[in-house]
Amino acid sequence: MKKLIVGNWKMFTTTAEAELLVERVDKKMLPTHGSEVVFCPPATALETLKNKLADLKHKHSFSLGIQNIYDQDEGPFTGEISAAQVKDVVQYAIVGHSERRRLFHERDTDIAKKVAACLRHDIIPILCVGETLTEREAKHSKRVVIDQLTADLGYMTAQELERIVIAYEPVWAIGTGNFARPEEVTEMITVIREHIEEHYGEIHGGSVRVLYGGSVEPDNARMYLKIAGCDGLLVGGASINYIKFAEIINTSHS
Ligand code: PEP
Repeated sequence: MKKLIVGNWKMFTTTAEAELLVERVDKKMLPTHGSEVVFCPPATALETLKNKLADLKHKHSFSLGIQNIYDQDEGPFTGEISAAQVKDVVQYAIVGHSERRRLFHERDTDIAKKVAACLRHDIIPILCVGETLTEREAKHSKRVVIDQLTADLGYMTAQELERIVIAYEPVWAIGTGNFARPEEVTEMITVIREHIEEHYGEIHGGSVRVLYGGSVEPDNARMYLKIAGCDGLLVGGASINYIKFAEIINTSHS
């Protein structure tokens, strides 16, 4: 299976900068096709990047993702964007990112509805789960992740589950430089797969794509990609640096 390398650009880049960033990443990428790259720019740049990626489709496996989605299809929800509105533009949507949980008070009940909205419109949700530092120190990491999965995947059937990507993103590792040790990632990927197996059967436990995210850099990317059961990476800060992001992608090729 191709490795999935997702770049979450957060609220960085103007549309012109976003276009330039894709051009530069493309130029730095090795001409091999070992991975699928998903760019998640700010929503303002999606349409422009859709056209840009169409031009590069013959060279690389590039996809587009939105960083957040609303759970309703339409209505008086000022400022929100629905899956129905972007289904012709994106293939993926990040759902339940820790910044959304923490800063915008998203609860698991909201996140479960967002996952369902994505699937209704054939968008692949990249569901982020992970424990905070306090939860880690209290040795509650596994419990927290299992509880998030139970709540966030509450409405899923086994068939729908096959279309979901799960990103294990320990909150203490996001944007801190304090990346998780490979043993910790291995352990949590096992917890995630076992949980899915228990609820949806063995086939699904093995087939769902599970990523790691949290201070991924060119220096540590390979270490994670070598972990059995780690299907790729969710990259924040390093994905808006074209040299670093291309290096991470190239690591996954070799
Ligand atoms: C993220 O935003 O999902 C993330 C993993 O950020 P960073 O790579 O900067 O830790």
